[in-house]
Amino acid sequence: MLIIPQNSSLADDLAARLRALRARIGAAARAAGRNEDCVTLLAVSKGHGAEAVRALAQLGVEHFGESYLQEALPKLDALSGMELSWHFIGRLQANKTRTIAERFAWVHGVDRLRIAERLAAQRPQLAPPLNVCVQVKLADDDTKGGASAAEAAALAGAIAALPRLRLRGLMCMLPEGLSVAQQRERFGAVHKLYEQLNRAGAALDTLSMGMSGDFETAIAAGSTMVRVGTALLGSRTDPLSMGSP
Ligand SMILES: *Cc1c(COP(=O)(O)O)cnc(C)c1O
Repeated sequence: MLIIPQNSSLADDLAARLRALRARIGAAARAAGRNEDCVTLLAVSKGHGAEAVRALAQLGVEHFGESYLQEALPKLDALSGMELSWHFIGRLQANKTRTIAERFAWVHGVDRLRIAERLAAQRPQLAPPLNVCVQVKLADDDTKGGASAAEAAALAGAIAALPRLRLRGLMCMLPEGLSVAQQRERFGAVHKLYEQLNRAGAALDTLSMGMSGDFETAIAAGSTMVRVGTALLGSRTDPLSMGSP
């Protein structure tokens, strides 16, 4: 655990936390025989204010993830002058897809065709394509979202044919309380599906897996994007973002 001196500024705290996190990401990549630049850090800013995002952006972080639209929008507005890449990583409700398609660069939790079709129809014509990851849920895991491996493969094919979306890859989120061996098995299964889709011609470049508690195991299993909140920004205090998405 990193000890942060009480009198240092937010920017200094975050610089130290970011350095420590980048060192852990780099070490996990090297241990797996991978190059550390093949893992992108997605800083999950839910439960933290625009100032923390601004400070991280000034330290070179480019990708930020938010799970709750009403919490995210004021931050996106406050930081609209900065060149940040915003990722929507929460549960997708049909009545929120228009705002998501208009305001975000990426959406990670796509797990059904109806949502993908709405995002495609609602992505503004002049915006670059919306980057999409299909969320995969593994067999007996009791997580809220996600398509089975077979559904994910079919969905990936359908999304590739939709206009204004760019299929980038797969995302998964493991339930809490798994052993490292179980995490490794789950992440390995999603990596295998990712490779199968690529062998079939999908041209995916993003495997979004790993959070504060399991990103090292995810990197060992081939993750290319880790979604880290607590290990970078500390615990979340905003009641709006308490509980799982
Ligand atoms: C909140 C959240 C994260 C970050 O979780 P931490 O454990 O704080 O790193 C990552 N992915 C998703 C989908 C989340 O909702």
